Amino acid sequence: MEQHSKSTKKKVVAVVGGGLVGALNACYFAKRGFEVEVFESREDIRHAKVVKGRSINLALSHRGRQALKHVGMEETIVSKGIPMNARMIHSVSGKWSEIPYGKKGQYILSVDRANLNKELLTAAEKYPNTKLNFDYKLLDWSGDTGAMTFARPDGSKEHITVDLIVGCDGAFSAIRKQFLRRSRFNFSQTYIPHGYLELTMPPNNGEFAMKPNYLHIWPRNTFMMIALPNLDKTFTCTLFMPFEDFEKITTGDEVIEFFQKYFTDAIPLIGVDALQRDFFRLPAQAMVSVKCSPYHIDDKCVLMGDAAHAVVPFYGQGMNAGFEDCLVLNEVMDQFNEDFSAVLPEYSRVRVPDDHAIADLAMYNYVEMRAHVNSKWFLFRKRVDTILHTLMPKTIIPLYTMVTFTRTRYHDAVKRWHWQDKVINQGLLGCATAAILGGSYLVIKYPPDMSNVTLEKMWSRVLALKTF
Ligand code: FAD
Repeated sequence: MEQHSKSTKKKVVAVVGGGLVGALNACYFAKRGFEVEVFESREDIRHAKVVKGRSINLALSHRGRQALKHVGMEETIVSKGIPMNARMIHSVSGKWSEIPYGKKGQYILSVDRANLNKELLTAAEKYPNTKLNFDYKLLDWSGDTGAMTFARPDGSKEHITVDLIVGCDGAFSAIRKQFLRRSRFNFSQTYIPHGYLELTMPPNNGEFAMKPNYLHIWPRNTFMMIALPNLDKTFTCTLFMPFEDFEKITTGDEVIEFFQKYFTDAIPLIGVDALQRDFFRLPAQAMVSVKCSPYHIDDKCVLMGDAAHAVVPFYGQGMNAGFEDCLVLNEVMDQFNEDFSAVLPEYSRVRVPDDHAIADLAMYNYVEMRAHVNSKWFLFRKRVDTILHTLMPKTIIPLYTMVTFTRTRYHDAVKRWHWQDKVINQGLLGCATAAILGGSYLVIKYPPDMSNVTLEKMWSRVLALKTF
């Protein structure tokens, strides 16, 4: 491998990690004319027989789409995605009810992770100033010189020095390890007690076994299952459950017993044999939330995607936030004329509060998705939010809409959500008080013949008073 140095005409950028964010980032740097080298520890997934990934499909939304659009990839990816307009809630008794994601026409997309990664690698490779290096596992690097050491499959080591290192090597980033050795670097990681495992729901007579344009959810308080549609008419079902509960299920019969109790309607759709077999195919996987700051070291290195902020998957934003990272860095590059010594600190300043906000929101949704979607108050509040958003689209915007269908900065979305919540709850309290006072007024003004009064009749009087 040739030694790269600052003497090359255009600066050399090494993107470490050729996953979703690394591959997209390579397109961004290449588009700007940098010499881009991508170093990925795995083999080239475009030629691999088995692609190991963290989830089979992902929900792509507005932020991710905007980031893809900037490098001309939006249509390619969207054309292979399946729109999901609403959540479909499956009750324990097998009843289905839908909760739309936003206004009519607003949807998130179910996309295939492996295909998305392959398309992005191919797009990056189309730039003549980009080189993809597979089977390059970063072992170590120097924050002072930018020199990196890679392990090759034959046991040899290669040393490479570049102008800028972009760490896109995921939640367990080797790049980030250097940051930990430095002073004033903040870092925290939290494993949640839940793990996840994936099951496949095959097509039924060549068609989707359930309505395809939904994200199906089976919320069961302490655990839940979700299912996203795939282009081959299968669904990928993901069961999120505390590890201690996974450990209690040890035989095929226990799997069926568990599903009979909590996910009855899914049994015939997945199939008894497949359930008994696939439940034990892989152990449940862990989920971690990582926060750190700053994201850069001098003008040498920057962390992006999961390497900077792994979030739990319950807001469907991990990849979307990582893609938006690329867009934000690009905006800062414009602002500071590609001067890394100014760009990197500014990127950390702008992006850290937003990534921390989405990490917190994802944790919040971890509770909301499995517990609150069953709650009457939650459903009522969702409906109120939607009605108010329709009546006052610029004043009241549901949190989910801000996060999923806009590029409102994540931390601004959180601030606005708290403000809206306060205003709406006060409004509801006011309405309830007015209704009670109105009811009392009616009772005093028109003393009822109590022998013939039901609560229902009284309520209709109160409603009538409110209506007029
Ligand atoms: P990764 O995808 O982890 O890629 C990192 C790459 O770096 C890998 O290719 C790896 O091989 C390589 N690498 C690692 N170490 C080294 C090394 N030492 N040297 C060289 N290369 C290295 N997000 C959404 O937006 N929507 C969703 O619906 C969604 N669903 C999810 C469901 C689940 C169950 C999980 C676990 C996550 C989900 N996410 C979702 C989050 C999403 O998967 C991640 O945010 C996204 O994959 C991050 O991309 P990345 O490129 O930063 O990291």
